[in-house]
Amino acid sequence: MARIPLVAGNWKMNFDHLEATYFVQKLAWLLRDAKFDYKRCQIALMPAFTALRSVQVLVEADNLRIGYGAQSVSVTSQGAFTGDVSADMLAQLGCRYVIVGHSERRKYHPEDDANIVDQVRAVLTAGMQPILCVGESFEERRQGIELEFAVSQVNDVTRDLSKEDMDHLIVAYEPVWAIGTGMVATPHTAQDAAQAIRAHVREGFGQAASDRVRILYGGSVTSKNAAQMIAQPDVDGFLVGGASLDAEEFSRIARLT
Ligand code: PGA
Repeated sequence: MARIPLVAGNWKMNFDHLEATYFVQKLAWLLRDAKFDYKRCQIALMPAFTALRSVQVLVEADNLRIGYGAQSVSVTSQGAFTGDVSADMLAQLGCRYVIVGHSERRKYHPEDDANIVDQVRAVLTAGMQPILCVGESFEERRQGIELEFAVSQVNDVTRDLSKEDMDHLIVAYEPVWAIGTGMVATPHTAQDAAQAIRAHVREGFGQAASDRVRILYGGSVTSKNAAQMIAQPDVDGFLVGGASLDAEEFSRIARLT
């Protein structure tokens, strides 16, 4: 079964709502100019919380076929949790995706495996799609256990999910050493990891679920490496950080995908 690729821009802590508005307008214009085929490849932007409403207004007003979502979410639904944003609040803003378990969140915030499982659950319950980030650091790669490591991070989440849940989960294989470093993984490395993750989904949920699940690659993706990456049979698109901050570069990556 053909999976529709997804190119998602992870803006991290960049762009206030005015810059986000400018970016979305420019991107929409570039894609329109390039006669971009949205049926062939989906596009999503993951702004900071403060820019989500502006992106929503623009997308709805201009009927843009650009999805958007958040970079993290609270595991609780409401109440005395100062500083948190719930999954329902995001869904109300029209978010379709939420990044869960990004290595920067695992590193700088107390997001452990249990918290990540709860975030995935919260996102699914609110009717959105989690983009679950997994991937090894240099240390696991040095030890030669990178595939087991990434698969076990996926397993930590998927062992609690149903077949129906699996239809909404997106996985992003993002080796930590490749994020923001310019050291992109080789297409072969990305393919090996994506293939191992897909095999794990097949074991747990069967062939149809593994054929459906989208597995993205993330880590120093640019228009120079996107075409070779997407040629890999198990790589279904990208989670793009630095290169997603330039509308022209981001639209080039989408066109190559
Ligand atoms: P990068 O970031 O493209 O800047 O390496 C990717 C990510 O962190 O999702």
